[in-house]
Amino acid sequence: MNSAQADTHTTIIRCGTPDCDWGFPLPDLASWRVEMCYAEFGQHCVERHGLLETDNAQMYFDLKEGTLTLWK
Ligand SMILES: [Zn+2]
Repeated sequence: MNSAQADTHTTIIRCGTPDCDWGFPLPDLASWRVEMCYAEFGQHCVERHGLLETDNAQMYFDLKEGTLTLWK
């Protein structure tokens, strides 16, 4: 059963890397929230995926899938 279908439509953006449990709740697409999501994801990639802070990583935001994928 899908209990996530409550009246709040918060999307959880997931890390696109398989087996990664990172997620970020995104209740709407206000630009500051999206930017925060990117920032959090960037931080997560540094901590978990060996991304260097100096790397200018490309991130692919798939809204349909609700994932953020790191393209090194
Ligand atoms: Zn991840």
